[in-house]
Amino acid sequence: MEVYNFSAGPAMMPPEVVAQIQAELISYRDSEMSVMEISHRSALYEEMFQTAKADLRELLAVPKDYKILFLQGGASTQFTTIPLNLARKTKNIAFVDTGHWSQTAIADAQLVPERKVDVVASGKSSAYSRLPHEITLDKPYDYVHLTINNTIEGTMYRKLPELQGQTVVGDISSNILGYQHDVQKYGLLYASAQKNIGPAGLTLVIVKESLLDKEQDLPSMLDYVKLIKRDSNLNTPPVFPIYAAGLVFQWLKKQGGVKQMQQQNEAKTALLYEMLDNSKLFLGTAHAPDRSLTNVPFTTESKELDEKFITQAEANGLKNIRGHILVGGMRASMYNAFPIEGVEALVDFMKAFERKERP
Ligand code: PLP
Repeated sequence: MEVYNFSAGPAMMPPEVVAQIQAELISYRDSEMSVMEISHRSALYEEMFQTAKADLRELLAVPKDYKILFLQGGASTQFTTIPLNLARKTKNIAFVDTGHWSQTAIADAQLVPERKVDVVASGKSSAYSRLPHEITLDKPYDYVHLTINNTIEGTMYRKLPELQGQTVVGDISSNILGYQHDVQKYGLLYASAQKNIGPAGLTLVIVKESLLDKEQDLPSMLDYVKLIKRDSNLNTPPVFPIYAAGLVFQWLKKQGGVKQMQQQNEAKTALLYEMLDNSKLFLGTAHAPDRSLTNVPFTTESKELDEKFITQAEANGLKNIRGHILVGGMRASMYNAFPIEGVEALVDFMKAFERKERP
């Protein structure tokens, strides 16, 4: 039976990349050492890291005045690190509340001493099925934080709201490299790797260098200035996830880059959205203009039927289709490595299920 992994993360990786990793697990580049045993001070690592960084810069068209950091601690650690580094002038931060991950970022920013957090817009009244697009800012902020793709609620900003020229910080954990983000519109972008890049353990930060205070003196692992100075090699970096990410970047370049990925993600999600829009049983929960290109939550609006669907889908090779524990129902995550055949299999299965349940 063909198995398709709809997990929101850790998520499916390109099979070609997994096969290459398998080959190099025993001896990396004829070194007779496993890639997991390579020192972060070796020439082998340095070349691997610099190539990955350059490939990422090329794939995302990162301008020269932005620095790229390869960090640890997940996107969640950035919920603290960003306020420490970027909220230093007015110490005021504006957040747009678009659901669970923005709320988690808000809660952590509120714990950073001396920072004042304002929630300037919220999708709460629509149960986060809609994104706020009209945002009023009444005072200057050091930055405005937006969760660009909401992994749980299945919404994404295609176009940034008008933010009066204020610095924008974007969490792109669940659609980095799957959508053509215009880096220049942001002061900082961040993402963890385990959705659209590779194994968990790597977190990417892309920051406009001029926003940083060269005089700041923060604890080393939280200080972008120190981390940039040491080129993300201030402590032992996650060599294996960086290696795997580097292979994915090369794979992406061969596929035609982010533009091609976005087109494929549009095509994949269109199949599922079309099914949902025409279904008598299933309902997509996100408001159509705000729909994500990577995460699609849906439900039958009956807990029992949702359970039945999930159990039968799992038994038919459609794995990890259960919705997030906070929202229930189902969710299909279809990142870059996820094949269109998997979406076709899901849609066929949904149609068959619907015929049985709503003849
Ligand atoms: N932000 C978004 C949009 C996410 O989807 C997630 C995880 O799913 C996170 C942040 C947290 O990432 P991590 O688990 O790497 O800390």
